[in-house]
Amino acid sequence: MSDVPSLPTLVTTDLAAITRGRPIPEARLAPGGTGIGWVPANLCLTAFNTIADPNPFGSVGDLRILPDPAARYATDRTGSATRFDLVMGDIVTLDGTPWDCCPRHFLREALAMLKAETGLSLLAAFEHEFLLTGIGAAGHAFSFEALRQADPFVPRLLAGLEEAGAEPELAFAEYGANQFEATLAPADGLVAADRAVVLREMVRELAQSFGWRASFTPKPALDGVGNGVHIHMSLVGADGAPATFDPARPGRLSAKAGAFFAGVLAHMPALTAITAPAELSYYRLKPHNWSASYTWLGDRDREATLRICPTVAIGGRDPARQFNVEYRAADALANPYLALGVLVRAGLEGLRAELPAPPVVSGDPGTMSEAERAEKGLFRLPESCEAALDALEADATARRWFSPDLLSSFLAVRRAERAHIAGFDAAAVCETYRMLY
Ligand code: GLU
Ligand code: MG
Repeated sequence: MSDVPSLPTLVTTDLAAITRGRPIPEARLAPGGTGIGWVPANLCLTAFNTIADPNPFGSVGDLRILPDPAARYATDRTGSATRFDLVMGDIVTLDGTPWDCCPRHFLREALAMLKAETGLSLLAAFEHEFLLTGIGAAGHAFSFEALRQADPFVPRLLAGLEEAGAEPELAFAEYGANQFEATLAPADGLVAADRAVVLREMVRELAQSFGWRASFTPKPALDGVGNGVHIHMSLVGADGAPATFDPARPGRLSAKAGAFFAGVLAHMPALTAITAPAELSYYRLKPHNWSASYTWLGDRDREATLRICPTVAIGGRDPARQFNVEYRAADALANPYLALGVLVRAGLEGLRAELPAPPVVSGDPGTMSEAERAEKGLFRLPESCEAALDALEADATARRWFSPDLLSSFLAVRRAERAHIAGFDAAAVCETYRMLY
């Protein structure tokens, strides 16, 4: 038994992707408890800790956050004086009904709808890139030296994630200066989003224990390497068998996965508002950044918005269980529950409409004529936060995925943040967000 003291903290992750909550004594986590109090307008907190105004709630109302005992992530390996002990919570009304603005509820409902209507479940894994500042001169890209300069950050992170039950796969020095990446094993959609929260908080806490700072900002500097959040997804049938792979056409999406990802591409302009939700998200979403810039399904192409990932045949491995598609137009300013939730809702629209699989396009859209791009279904993603928010508002189907209060809160938060940085030049925007995330 460890002698690191423990005080569990019950949390929710809000529309600015900040994980907020309160410590709760162990005894109050027991089944039948009433959790902690919460205020509706907290949903409208911005990254700048202002409350977006106007918002649907004002100063009125009370809610509770109830713990999900199945979603507790604890480890004493972060170097902190108190155990890292995060308990994911669901926001409910005072009679225990799920609050129709709770982001975690939004995802849970989307997954339940997918399952009820199609029998399909979603496996997902969030892959995070981030910057460590304070470790000194940057080593070469992907180098042993860069990894060792940060030692023992990576082994401690992996051990902490493992102990907490977040199933880490890898962590390593990435391409950018002092940039690192951590990947987690695929899991049920809700668990995957919980683990994304755990990963972000654990990386931050661990960096702090080294006297460094971790930043998940999508664009540390205008000419710098971006930090993406890549969301890997695959479908599982009611029988538990992989449903993204088609044995008759290896390397191509099954009809169901084709329809699902066609739905995602069809709603891309609206989706970017949720998954790339701030002004500087659009500094990253540009061609030739290995991020995402067109409504594009690509085969193992890191410029594509949806990348069909490789499968490995070494040792006779089964491709069906590995086969997955990566959504690359997300960053860590996005709430992981909302991000995955809207992907599921868009995918479900594609399944309902039985959309044909999108064409797999190779080549550089930038060198194609407008007509050629249109013929291949390649359209530029929104190029600014405001354009993306407008696209979300203009997408009548996407609007219906949200309760009216959730949608207006989201728009209010994102517009309040835009107003906060109005007049900043791009360098100041980068600097501001680098300090916030
Ligand atoms: N850093 C790139 C991004 O902004 C991704 C690079 C990679 O493919 O790992 O998304
Ligand atoms: Mg990467």
